[in-house]
Amino acid sequence: MEICYILDASAFINGFKLDSNNNFTVPEITAEIKDFESRLMFDMAIDECKLTIQDVPNKYTNCVNKIISESGDILRLSFPDKKLIALAYMFSKEGRNVKVISDDYTIQNTLKIMGIPYSGIITEGIKGIYNWKKVCEGCKKEYDDDYPFDDCEICGSKIYKKRIKVSK
Ligand SMILES: [Zn+2]
Repeated sequence: MEICYILDASAFINGFKLDSNNNFTVPEITAEIKDFESRLMFDMAIDECKLTIQDVPNKYTNCVNKIISESGDILRLSFPDKKLIALAYMFSKEGRNVKVISDDYTIQNTLKIMGIPYSGIITEGIKGIYNWKKVCEGCKKEYDDDYPFDDCEICGSKIYKKRIKVSK
């Protein structure tokens, strides 16, 4: 079965080659492609019918929200990112052969959790699944994600979010 490529803005910005006519993106991504060269490539792909802009029904975006609500990544995904992931989710539910092209680590991490294939152009894709943990920059005490304050209860230093590997 032919692969449907789902393209993030980074696919255009980093020069992904559109060899087939099976390339898709969501309307929200178009606003993120601003520089002249990427825009030219984007417009040409549409003119040559290599790229289809496809909207996604809300129910799929809601499903994505539900699936990733366990992961700290939900906070870091923009609305266009979520739509893009929802498109990949919709296609895979329809039994299509999907691959997302994105250099965004948060998108890649989310796809990994959801079991949807992806590939980067510059990056090779991250190894393993990551999550976020709150850590005090002073005494290094670790806090749960729902700890409501910005400062450490022990030493009063600032708490920052750290990416931690949770599985391979
Ligand atoms: Zn502390």
